[in-house]
Amino acid sequence: MLERFRPDGYHDSIFDVDTEELKKGGITGLIVDLDNTLVPRHEREAPERVHKWLEEVIERGFRVCIVSNNWAGRVKAIADELGLSLVAPAAKPRGGAFVQAMEILGTSRSQTAVIGDQLFTDILGGNLAGLVTILVVPISPRELLHTRILRRLERMVLRKLQKKDLLRKYRASFPDSGGGFCV
Ligand SMILES: [Mg+2]
Repeated sequence: MLERFRPDGYHDSIFDVDTEELKKGGITGLIVDLDNTLVPRHEREAPERVHKWLEEVIERGFRVCIVSNNWAGRVKAIADELGLSLVAPAAKPRGGAFVQAMEILGTSRSQTAVIGDQLFTDILGGNLAGLVTILVVPISPRELLHTRILRRLERMVLRKLQKKDLLRKYRASFPDSGGGFCV
């Protein structure tokens, strides 16, 4: 049960994810969450640092697609601003949007990583779809009511994972990385 929530990597932010390690793990496609992963929930534009990060990862040969459960016009505007494809609203943790994103990226499951800030949507969904999953600390504490409620449950699961030493930085050699669950 706990295994379904275990990310293959846990990092302070998207900027701390070691993309060289991802490459070593055979990853070429990144499915990235938007709110509180790339951009604070209340922001209407992507910070300059995100533009730079994207330039770098694309230069390193990664393809990137945003998958968001949010359907606001702001999400499309930010994806356009960043020049990225968007799948939204995604209904994560359901896997349909991930399949759509992989079609856009032209990657297989073993070549694709999901990066997001929520265990119950990004990580659970990515694990169920058999993708590499990277959890990042949310950028901003400002969140929707239902997210705040989920966060309490999330903290309980995170504590359990922490206790079992299952929250580590992503390493290509990490046992089971690239595995996850297929249902
Ligand atoms: Mg998010």
